[in-house]
Amino acid sequence: MTDYLPFARPSIDEETIAGVAEVLRSGWITSGPQVKAFEAALSRLCGGRAVRSFSSGTAALEVGLRLAGVGPGHEVITTPLSWVATANVVLEVGARPVFVDVDPRTRNIDLEKIEAALTPATRALIPVDLAGLPVDRDRLYSISRGKNLRVIEDAAQSFGARWRGRALGTFGDLVAFSFHANKNITTAEGGALVLPEESLIPLCEKLRLQGVARFGEDGMEVDVAGGKFNLTDVAARLGLGQLPHLQEFTDRRRELARRYFQRWDRSLECELPFEDFENSNWHMFQVVLPRHADRARFIAAMRKQGIGVGVHYPAMHLFALYRSLGWRAGQFPHAERVGRSIVTLPLFPAMTESDVSRVCAAVRKALS
Ligand SMILES: *Cc1c(COP(=O)(O)O)cnc(C)c1O
Repeated sequence: MTDYLPFARPSIDEETIAGVAEVLRSGWITSGPQVKAFEAALSRLCGGRAVRSFSSGTAALEVGLRLAGVGPGHEVITTPLSWVATANVVLEVGARPVFVDVDPRTRNIDLEKIEAALTPATRALIPVDLAGLPVDRDRLYSISRGKNLRVIEDAAQSFGARWRGRALGTFGDLVAFSFHANKNITTAEGGALVLPEESLIPLCEKLRLQGVARFGEDGMEVDVAGGKFNLTDVAARLGLGQLPHLQEFTDRRRELARRYFQRWDRSLECELPFEDFENSNWHMFQVVLPRHADRARFIAAMRKQGIGVGVHYPAMHLFALYRSLGWRAGQFPHAERVGRSIVTLPLFPAMTESDVSRVCAAVRKALS
């Protein structure tokens, strides 16, 4: 029996494990020097812009919304085909998420449909780069420009991806990344927010930790209710050990994705991902199963062959919470269809070419 192949697995080297142990022995395990060093390293990857780390990508998104001034009475346009965190944070700040259907080719928000969803209450857009495939940044910012519309990029899945040669995070409005265990670079749990201006740093730091501002030797003031969203030094040290591998991980994922395209049996009538070998960081390799296939049975059949399959994601406007806010089946046919039949196949840097072949053979068997 061959080893079980999960759909995602982090690659953590021994030097990093030793470094984390050192932090654990150091006497300082929560936010401290490692967090500072991690933020400095992230800032270098983001063209020198200010970056602050968080305990999760969700926290980074929520603080991004607050820094953009989004609150009660505001609408925020986003995609229904994402991890539910994307819309939950809008509710957390007291605003209303407004969904716009996806383009079935990219599975990302259909930018052509945004204008029709704008109202006088629209305050921000949250584009999501599903599977690491970037939303068209040129068209995105041409929509927001000159309209008093802020953008909070949900780049949770697209750390290391590019748009026309520029790394995500080096340009744009607010950009949120996640370092959850399944993401391309991990701190186990964690995230980061790239700020468009240094002047936002003090408020960003207050919103991250209880609204507290310190001054002098013993001064403390609180003038806003912040969260408890700081990253630990243990997590930051893990992140510092991951960052030097970013390019190598991205390159490897791209190679494995290419292998999937080469090995895939086109007669199975699955919808393959958008074939982008320039911008995407290939966070996931996702296919939409043919209409006649039963997804639950497919997943069980793959598991029996020792292969893990993920579901990312059901269209979120159909969750009970969002239906209670008025969203209905039939409103976003592309997201609904993709959300019903999409599966995530194994893709992570430590996989081999023969693992890809094994997955392709197992898919053929599971669908026959
Ligand atoms: C992972 C993810 C998040 C949330 O990040 P966490 O670190 O898990 O809080 C938000 N949006 C998308 C699209 C994600 O994939």
